[in-house]
Amino acid sequence: MLTVHDDVDTGRLPEGITPLGDDIFAIDTMLAGYAGVVSSYLVRSERPCLVEVGTAGSAPVLHEAVTRLGLAPEDLATIVVTHIHLDHAGGTGDMAALFPNAEIVVHERGARHLADPSRLMSSAAMVWGDRLDVLFGRMSPTEAARIRSVAETGEIDLGADRKLVSHYAPGHAKHHMGLVDTLTGDLYVGDALGVYNPLTGDVRPATPPPDFDLDACLRTLRLFGDIDAQRLMFSHFGAVDTVAETIDRAESELRLWVETVRESHGTQGDLDHAVAMVRDKVVSRYKPLPEDASQDAAAVLDILAGPEANVSGIMHWLDRLAQEQAAAAGDPRK
Ligand SMILES: [Zn+2]
Repeated sequence: MLTVHDDVDTGRLPEGITPLGDDIFAIDTMLAGYAGVVSSYLVRSERPCLVEVGTAGSAPVLHEAVTRLGLAPEDLATIVVTHIHLDHAGGTGDMAALFPNAEIVVHERGARHLADPSRLMSSAAMVWGDRLDVLFGRMSPTEAARIRSVAETGEIDLGADRKLVSHYAPGHAKHHMGLVDTLTGDLYVGDALGVYNPLTGDVRPATPPPDFDLDACLRTLRLFGDIDAQRLMFSHFGAVDTVAETIDRAESELRLWVETVRESHGTQGDLDHAVAMVRDKVVSRYKPLPEDASQDAAAVLDILAGPEANVSGIMHWLDRLAQEQAAAAGDPRK
């Protein structure tokens, strides 16, 4: 049972912890030491739950924040990740060790990688090279017995009739899901809508290889629209009230990036050319950061979901699509 936490003075929380009402707190996970890149959320209900854990290096940050918010480590009932990319789930094994009673909830397509991260880590090493250790660190395995995987939909009991309901939401990744708080109507979107910049209000897609799939993304956007959420909780970065508008914006940005890459793909077909076109026609439209803003977080976000990563994910998808079409054309049964 949960210990008393009424003594937490939410008016005097340290920087990096933001109260969002209804016992929800956004916690900056300080990816690689940078503020404003990856947010976790604590729902401090009767059965407290953390959504997203960030990287291995974020585990002590979250441990301190959760304690600061009046919980003992034993109180945390659930840790859930929207998907298993390292900026969201890299710290899962460390977190499981720090919070001994927490059940770890993940989509079924990601579960085995949390229990045995070796394949995930070797493919991440191919993508990130030298930057892997600096940005993400290493994912430690999570004891399989503590992992609960969910399929198309699932439920996390927050206590007192409050739940988080998961919805399978592929497109950004095959192991991605969104989560709805039944008390507040908040929707935890992971990376399905892309990256929201709270300083400018811009939304940019997040379309990395190898899973990005435009059609799946669009279906997920429709699903999220139908949920009729009262607020969108972005992992990158923060809570957004303008729900329908932001989902529409996410869709038009996604289509524009894909169209631009498709055009370039049709002419020259090389990655550098497509990245240059995207920078020129798409990225140049975004509002500049306010002058006093730290450029560091923006630079790190650009690495996670910037032109290079996004364009190569879109090109990868276009190639896959072309292969599928060729295979279908060559198959007399189709
Ligand atoms: Zn991410």
